[in-house]
Amino acid sequence: MRSSIQIVDVDRVETWSRYRAGLCDLCQANCCTMPLEVRLSDLVRLGLVDGFEAAHEDPGRIAKRLQKARLIERYHTKTELFTMARRADGDCSFLQPQTRRCTVYAQRPDTCRQHPVSKSPRPGYCAFGAHMSAIRAG
Ligand code: SF4
Repeated sequence: MRSSIQIVDVDRVETWSRYRAGLCDLCQANCCTMPLEVRLSDLVRLGLVDGFEAAHEDPGRIAKRLQKARLIERYHTKTELFTMARRADGDCSFLQPQTRRCTVYAQRPDTCRQHPVSKSPRPGYCAFGAHMSAIRAG
């Protein structure tokens, strides 16, 4: 008999599920293990960059400070995108490891707000993987 548990590989979009409202409540937040690119405005909203600093400082210098503090992995000068640092296991550093919930939900970056509907390697689909509590509840 075929298992009802769908195996998802975050890096292979063909294994992703069609997104629907409410799916996030059952998920182990696989999307929060993917590389996260943000803009300076997101960093201001997250409280990692001061509004005055954002308006007056060169983004490259801001990036150096954030890299030193291990808050970002790198900065792309051409696109002006910052890649956020992740934990050793690949989780976003804002993800609560046990509950698999975002700890900065109200301030989360635009990329997170737009995923998976418009901002996604496969728009409309996501790397859904059932959270253990959802599996136990059957
Ligand atoms: S900021 Fe929040 S929603 Fe965005 S990847 Fe991190 S934990 Fe997930």
